Amino acid sequence: MAKRTVKDLDVAGKRVIVRVDFNVPRKNGVITNDNRIVQALPTINYLIENKAKIVLMSHLGKIKTEEDKAKNSLNVVAERLAQLVDTKVSFCPVTRGAQLEEAIAALNESEIVVMENTRYEKGESKNDEELGKYWASLGELFVVDAFGSVHRAHASTVGIPTHLENALGFLVEKEVIMLGKAVDTPERPFVAIIGGAKVSDKIAVVDNLLEKADKVIVGGGMAYTFMKAQGLEIGKSLVEEDKVGLAKEYLAKAGDKLVLPIDNICADAFAETANIVVCDNADIPADYMGLDIGPKSIKLFEDTLAGAKTVVWNGPMGVFEMAPFAKGTLAVCTAISELPGATTVIGGGDSAAAAIQLGFAEKFSHISTGGGASLEYMEGKTLPGIAVISEK
Ligand code: AMP
Repeated sequence: MAKRTVKDLDVAGKRVIVRVDFNVPRKNGVITNDNRIVQALPTINYLIENKAKIVLMSHLGKIKTEEDKAKNSLNVVAERLAQLVDTKVSFCPVTRGAQLEEAIAALNESEIVVMENTRYEKGESKNDEELGKYWASLGELFVVDAFGSVHRAHASTVGIPTHLENALGFLVEKEVIMLGKAVDTPERPFVAIIGGAKVSDKIAVVDNLLEKADKVIVGGGMAYTFMKAQGLEIGKSLVEEDKVGLAKEYLAKAGDKLVLPIDNICADAFAETANIVVCDNADIPADYMGLDIGPKSIKLFEDTLAGAKTVVWNGPMGVFEMAPFAKGTLAVCTAISELPGATTVIGGGDSAAAAIQLGFAEKFSHISTGGGASLEYMEGKTLPGIAVISEK
């Protein structure tokens, strides 16, 4: 069964609360990338065209102190949104009370009010029952379009839809379709590539993908924990000691399904100016660290990818932010993007940033907008903000 989408709702004249992900990067209070606002526009424009009274809610940054509040007001986002849509956008500087209620009551059809940062409320991240109920009372319908937040059971993602007729927005619908197509019903061969540095965040993903994919390539900083588990000396390379045991387990059950690098670009410091050697896994010098996959590994990964009809990728193959260690990530990015007729999905986070930085944004079937959410999806976990939405 499929989840209801915004098209299944009768929105005309109704107060529709939309949980969006407007957690945009900023520098000195100025938005440096408005992609998250742009990504929410299909749903917002649909609601404008269909005469809804639109209440937008989002978090922005982390709020611990009063100072954090001043730094993370959604005011700037409302101003940017006003430049992108053809309707009146007002900003309400509070998250509860008469001022908010009056701003919503004053909405005409097709107009928007952006509520202040949901995290101004302490109960937001605790999914406080009273808060979810209160926010729900402000609307008649609820739409979730914040893919980056659906892996969190918060008052604005789970509390509100518990009390209101609800549906997915277009962005979340697209994410669910693309990730589902890739991970749950893949056209085979299905190759998954996991890299990056956060072994503890991703090791469960490797486990789940070993069940689902035909090949699982592990590269980047992740790979050294596996190499250590193989009994190799990895010098000063990144390792999560407490995950070596799990890595051993996966190696034993995966057989030739798990593909690891066979050579490395190693450096004597974590710096562009470091001394660099290229060496096989068995030859990593004690005072060097592996910062990228080597040329033989690139060839091995390209061969493993050849003919794939579905590819899911999360995590760079090396420290791509520094030119001497970007080759592996660039090569994998190129190889994936050139696969004929394949469904290719990047699971957000740093690999999405790498693909965009390297100029590949248009060459993938889908680049997920939610790093954590797409990882949890790939891990096989239920995403609470989607689970709570009604089936058609
Ligand atoms: P993640 O957030 O887990 O996707 O990790 C992304 C980060 O991993 C990037 O900032 C990379 O620079 C870093 N990374 C990739 N390969 C390595 C490596 N071999 N050693 C240290 N850091 C790495």
